[in-house]
Amino acid sequence: MSTTDATFTIPKTHKACVYDQPGTCSIAIREVTTPEPGPNEVLIKLTHTGVCHSDYAIMMNTWKQLPAPTKPGQVGGHEGLGRIVKLGEGSEKTGVKVGDRVGVKWVASARSANAAQAPANGS
Ligand SMILES: [Zn+2]
Repeated sequence: MSTTDATFTIPKTHKACVYDQPGTCSIAIREVTTPEPGPNEVLIKLTHTGVCHSDYAIMMNTWKQLPAPTKPGQVGGHEGLGRIVKLGEGSEKTGVKVGDRVGVKWVASARSANAAQAPANGS
């Protein structure tokens, strides 16, 4: 079902890949609560996601520069594409709207999925 379809309903929960035993190479698929977007945030229904060396380091707790060790249940992945399904307070001021196709970069930012506007860094 398309997220731009008027009949699309945001689920209360959804499946996610989580680090179930941080410090070891282990993941699990769990049902997690769908978050509400906060101020200047948007909720995105991902259609594509990737896993990179950063995800592996977070799962294995090898990045000592992070403020705290990874907790069990941390959702993995930090790059993806999808469509905005809900706007948080104030996010409409950025020019995005429900149904826009956007990309997600490290750690929590979104931009239009238009290639001409894609961020140049390679995380
Ligand atoms: Zn990455």
